[in-house]
Amino acid sequence: MDKTDLRKYTFEQNRLHSVDEKATLSRKICDKIMAHEAVESANTIVLFWSLKSEVDTHEMVAELVKKKNVILLTQSAETPPVTPPKDAVIIVPGVAFDNRGYRLGRGKGYYDRFLSNLAENYKIGICFPWQMIEKVPTDSHDVCVNEVIF
Ligand code: ADP
Ligand code: MG
Repeated sequence: MDKTDLRKYTFEQNRLHSVDEKATLSRKICDKIMAHEAVESANTIVLFWSLKSEVDTHEMVAELVKKKNVILLTQSAETPPVTPPKDAVIIVPGVAFDNRGYRLGRGKGYYDRFLSNLAENYKIGICFPWQMIEKVPTDSHDVCVNEVIF
């Protein structure tokens, strides 16, 4: 499947799972992130305010702002890029990931542009289990994450 077909496929998969199931999974995923060694030791966390189809990060953002410096990304092409400190852990959503850490986004390359200068930062991708696929098709501009939590 190419990137366009894969985006359709995972959005269809998302619709097969209930709001409750996604809420439960989101809590589990966020618990794993909050307990993650890299997150615990970082002073700064870069993450996103989730959209409806994504792992829900809203409660986690509220918890993190009490403990860390938080840089919250809005997923808009107009957002000016910020440069987080090198010790910041970056958490990104994806439409799909594979176990090499390759990421499929919504098709605008927003995170590829953001992550392209951040080679030294530890990057964690988050997604629902059905968004983990065998192999994400990649282009030279696609940026990998170090780890996927699902
Ligand atoms: P996504 O990562 O959202 O799934 P793609 O990887 O298909 O989307 O990228 C979408 C478009 O974004 C690409 O066609 C490319 O032109 C642009 N793009 C991605 N990364 C960069 C970059 N680092 N610099 C400039 N353009 C980029
Ligand atoms: Mg990409």
